Amino acid sequence: MKARGVVLAMALSLVMGMQSFAATEIGLNLNWKYAGNSKINTGKAVLYTSDVKEPKHITIAVNAGHGTKGGEKQRTLCHPDGTRKLTGGTNAAGVTTASAVSSGMTFQDGTREATVTLQMAHILGKKLLAEGYDVLMIRSEEDVQLDNIARTVLANNKADAHIALHWDATTKDKGAFFMSVPDGLKRMEPVASNWQNHEKLGDSLISGLKGQGVKIFGKGRMDMDLTQTSYSTIPSVDIELGDKVSDHGEKTLNNLADGLVKGINIYYGFSS
Ligand SMILES: [Zn+2]
Repeated sequence: MKARGVVLAMALSLVMGMQSFAATEIGLNLNWKYAGNSKINTGKAVLYTSDVKEPKHITIAVNAGHGTKGGEKQRTLCHPDGTRKLTGGTNAAGVTTASAVSSGMTFQDGTREATVTLQMAHILGKKLLAEGYDVLMIRSEEDVQLDNIARTVLANNKADAHIALHWDATTKDKGAFFMSVPDGLKRMEPVASNWQNHEKLGDSLISGLKGQGVKIFGKGRMDMDLTQTSYSTIPSVDIELGDKVSDHGEKTLNNLADGLVKGINIYYGFSS
């Protein structure tokens, strides 16, 4: 099994054009906190280690949103304590369970969101490694059998910050924003101990994107009760990089990735 993992990780690093970076497959340890709440957890994330001269020794979990076959057939607890969801989204407000992973939207040109988030994850991962960050790629291929809880718990235990990449389901090209924690959740753990870091990271990413000339929606945030932030014990953000009608060509994705790298540097106090 170990040999197969190494071969697979090498193949993945070739896909990502990151032959020179060491890659290790990492699965979910069911003893980790909240891991028992996940339902789809047999997939593996891949940890890439930066080989620049002065690595930062900071690991960023890059989570390409969606892309889990069967993810909508399973339901998981929205909150670790089983309380009701405060805001609607893919799943209605008031429910206690949500799709383990939703399948995501389809762009107006027919491209699936999951395809674009994966492409974006590869571009961002490469730039982060070049910048000296280590990268935990939650999903490296079309499908990973890790639900939103499993993805979050892996990031909690193997990364220093967690960035989930998404595009929104509106058709306005309204701009980028991050999903901030609703006030009603700020007393529930682990949100209570972490929401300020989520906001600081979210605001930093928005500043970085602004610096690249990316259009920002309103103040760059929208309150949303997400499984990701409800289970995160590290700085954690769901960033929506546009919507169904936004351009997602390679040039745009590169610019968005540069903005995100800038934002991460801002968060950690590095000037880029
Ligand atoms: Zn999405």
